[in-house]
This record gives sequence, C-alpha cells and structure tokens, in this order.
Amino acid sequence: MTIDTPVTTPRNAGTTGSISLVGIGPGHTDHMTTRARAAIAEADVVVGYVTYIKLVADLLDGKEVVRKGMTEELDRAVHALEAARAGKKVALISSGDAGVYGMAGPTYEVLFQAGWTPEDDVMVEIVPGASAINACAALVGAPLTHDFCSVSLSDLLTPWPVIARRLDAAAAADFVVALYNPKSGRRTQQIVQAQALFLRHRRPDTPVAIVKSAYRRRQQIVHTTLDQMAEQEIGMLSTVLIGNSSTFLRAGLMVTPRGYANKYDVDQGFETREGEKAGRSLSSGLLGWIEGVRAEHASGLGLTELARRHRLPADYIEQVLATPDEHEPTEAGAEETEA
Ligand code: SAH
Repeated sequence: MTIDTPVTTPRNAGTTGSISLVGIGPGHTDHMTTRARAAIAEADVVVGYVTYIKLVADLLDGKEVVRKGMTEELDRAVHALEAARAGKKVALISSGDAGVYGMAGPTYEVLFQAGWTPEDDVMVEIVPGASAINACAALVGAPLTHDFCSVSLSDLLTPWPVIARRLDAAAAADFVVALYNPKSGRRTQQIVQAQALFLRHRRPDTPVAIVKSAYRRRQQIVHTTLDQMAEQEIGMLSTVLIGNSSTFLRAGLMVTPRGYANKYDVDQGFETREGEKAGRSLSSGLLGWIEGVRAEHASGLGLTELARRHRLPADYIEQVLATPDEHEPTEAGAEETEA
C-alpha cells in the first residue's frame, strides 16, 4: 500500500500564524498521536481546559498557556484567531477528537465570521484523536462492530425534542448508540428520558456499558442493562454505550456480532451457508432482496403490503420495483475486503 498524501500540511508553516485543533485522545499520553504531540510542541500558544493542559505539561516550556473554563468556547476561538493573525502558532486542545462535540465547529464558525477562507494566510489544521466512543468501546469489548451512532444528551444548545427524536430514531433503527454528555449536576433527567425512549424499542436486558474517565486515573467501567442504566452512577465524565438487539455480554465483554452467522455456519467450522458466497453480498443483500421483492410483487402483493412486510416506505418499494435489472459483477476485483 502506498500513502501519497502528506501526513501534515505545513503549506505556509513558519511564515504566518496557524491554528491547530488538536484532539489528544481520551486522556492518557499513550493514546495521544505523534502528530498531536508535535502540533503542541510546535505551538507558541496553547489553549485548553486545565485538565488537558496538565496532560501535556511536559511540552509547554516557554509557551504562552491559556487555561480556559468550560463555557468560553467562542472566546477561545476568537483568541486563537487573533493570535494567529499576529503570526503565532496556536494549538487548541480538545479531549478525544476536536471534531466530535469539540472546538472544530465553533472555530470554523468564528473564522468564517471573521472573513477567513482556506486560502487565507492563517493555516488551519485539525489533528484527529481517538474519541470517547473509541476509547470506551475498546475498554468494554467490541460493541461497535456493527452500525452505530452517537447522541449527546446535552440540551445546553440543542432543544430536547430534537434530541428525543434522534434517540427514538436511533433506537428504532437498532443502532448501537453512544450517549455523550449523559448527565451532569444540573442535567439529571435526560438519561431517564433516554432510557424510556429506548425501552419502547429494545429489550430491558439489552447490554449497556457505562465508562467513566476512560484511560484516566479514576477510570470506572460498569456493565448493566437498559432497564437499570439510569440508576447507575453516571456523570459528566461518563459515556454510555447501549447495545443493539444482537449485542451480548460474555465473560465481562460487550460484543456486537458483525453478522457472520448470516453467511457462515459458525457451529460447523464456518462453512458458507447454502445460497451464500464468500466475498459477495448476502442473498438478502441489495440485489438478492430486489429479486425477492419483485417475485412477491409478481405473486400479487401490493405496495402497502410489501412496505409493511419489509418495514420500508411504500414509495421506496415502488422505486425499487422500477429499478432496471442489474447483475452482480463476477470478475476478480469484485471481492470485498473488510478488516
Ligand atoms: N471531543 C470529545 C467529546 C467532548 S464532549 C471526544 O471526542 O471524546 C464531553 C463528553 O465526552 C463527556 O460528557 C463524556 O460523555 C465523553 N468523554 C470524554 N472523554 C471521556 C473519557 N475519557 N471517558 C469517558 N467519556 C468521555
């Protein structure tokens, strides 16, 4: 494999100021990337919460360090832009990934408001980091090996009906869900409401893991179930992982199957099941499924009945029935790798 994109993009490094939005991972230096440490080491000004500043204390010699509180995000972005315009290299530190419920969004908003464009002299770089969802998942097993999403329960900037609708939709769609910002001193009922919404779609014994302070000194992991999750100790430093309908807990590990059992007979030495082919879509994958729907339609089932049976919108089924026939490519290269 060749990598032809440069790892860093120092387009005008050295000449003018820059802003690096640095994700430092969950909170232990071992889980910080080399680029994250380098971006901080290269900076003239380092801005971030006290807790995160402490984590990179060894890199701060001779730098201007701006320790900010929790509610000064826009302030921090404005400060960063001013310093960068003055020719300084600024590193804005975020825990996890700066683009996940972090400073990246507010910073671009402030930058655009100030007339900044990517062609500007001030260079902006986002340094990715392992987000809480990755860190917490790694500690509890393999909960994210099938489709997942995250929802923040913080209603500080998002109306509750928006959050509730997303919870309801994610629960109904059987996503594994990570709840960020699940609870704080003042926000104690959001998690109770989230539980109620999930229980409308998922079994009470659905596995749930609550991870507090992943990879930090006070790390704590609790395995529980959906019907008991709201009674557990949950706080500002916790992430709640709710399993989907296939997620199981075994030997203290939360695991979501990839779906191998649909294709291979797991009990019979992983023999490919009848009608399935290794490296190809399932017989109930897109093309096989369309064939099936067509047959059902031809046998007299109407749109409404098909929509109900497949739990999909009738206009989508109609569109599928109108799709021209296609055959799965058979040449080499059609195989998929998923690792
Ligand atoms: N940018 C961060 C998220 C900031 S929002 C990231 O990518 O991880 C803050 C929320 O993140 C917390 O309320 C908690 O839900 C989660 N979080 C951040 N660090 C965590 C950690 N070390 N352990 C568990 N949850 C964490």
